[in-house]
Amino acid sequence: MTGTIEEPATRLADVPMARPWFGPEEVQAVSDVVASGWVSQGARVVEFEAEIAAAVDARHAVAVSNCTTALHLGMVVASLGVGDEVIVPSLSFVASANVIRYVGATPVFADVSPLTHNITPESVLAAITPRTRAVMVVHQCGVPADLGTLRALCDEHGLELLEDAACAIGSTYLGRPIGSDSRFAAFSFHPRKVLVTGEGGMITTDDAELAARLGRLRQHAMSVSSFDRDRAGEVVVEQYLETGFNFRMTDMQAALGIVQCRRLAEMIATRRRLGQRYRAVLGDVPGLEIVGDPDYGQTNYQSFWVVLPDDAAVSRDELLRRLLEAGVHARHGVTASHLEPAFADVRHPPLPVTERVARQSVLLPIYHEMPDSAQDRVAAVFAEALSGRHH
Ligand SMILES: *Cc1c(COP(=O)(O)O)cnc(C)c1O
Repeated sequence: MTGTIEEPATRLADVPMARPWFGPEEVQAVSDVVASGWVSQGARVVEFEAEIAAAVDARHAVAVSNCTTALHLGMVVASLGVGDEVIVPSLSFVASANVIRYVGATPVFADVSPLTHNITPESVLAAITPRTRAVMVVHQCGVPADLGTLRALCDEHGLELLEDAACAIGSTYLGRPIGSDSRFAAFSFHPRKVLVTGEGGMITTDDAELAARLGRLRQHAMSVSSFDRDRAGEVVVEQYLETGFNFRMTDMQAALGIVQCRRLAEMIATRRRLGQRYRAVLGDVPGLEIVGDPDYGQTNYQSFWVVLPDDAAVSRDELLRRLLEAGVHARHGVTASHLEPAFADVRHPPLPVTERVARQSVLLPIYHEMPDSAQDRVAAVFAEALSGRHH
């Protein structure tokens, strides 16, 4: 071909960090929406909400523009504001802590379990003050948190429990899908997650009134959506019931999501197979801590991460460099929000597990069409680097 930029010659095909699993059905679904002329929130969004509710066995699902706006609405409907404290793990994508500040509330960072990298009843209890109003639990990288004990603790102390389930579609707690029995769980459909709509988010709830309010808040708190007004067949004048937002999903995204829902079971099964195979091929690397299922649930392996031993023969950056040399795109693990400049002013208790994991963890490539040979390449680099041998 002429006119294209030549890729530098590599011996082996590059292994990307993540890649959505799309087929011709997704292309068709999006182009059908464009051809229909109704591209903003409409019939496809309604249908996508029903698909997600069915997929995670939730009573209600409300689509929004992304998981960050979903969590922002969570802060609004929990009536949080200035002077209120929300307990949240520092070890998370910064959006978890950012949304707390969107409503003027204060994030209070809690440490995580070294096994699941999620907050625990003990770390939450240690962070409770008279100003605590809510707890935001994150099912980090798809590994379910210990919801039962956290719910009991929140009930006992009169706290709202909000779930950042951005990564956790298809993960389970005691055999039930994450999002199924929740008052508020928020999912992301960003390409780094599992089910992909480009940008996109969904809130599931078991509360019909809350679902109706969330459905209004995302569209300027209009009493009737533009879609319903358009279909009413008569003149409908809407009211604006409270201060709302424009957090709508488009029908193009929803159409993509509807097709992705049909692939969900296979996506999860494949990720779990890849996760278990990674565990097998990395199992012999001395001192390596490897993500897996907690005893009360299953991860969807949205991410696959390892924590390097304290006395590793190579630094994390050197390991990432050697992986890249082998064509493998890996990443630093999840960041610790309290170490970022944006949160430098937040007081926090000692967070030793968070800091160790933030310093020593590596996220490895995992995606639907990943070949076993790519995993073997990753394992070979680890075996050589962490045995201290030189290559
Ligand atoms: C990705 C992610 C988010 C943000 O999701 P968006 O859909 O990109 O807004 C929030 N929390 C966690 C834990 C995430 O991993």
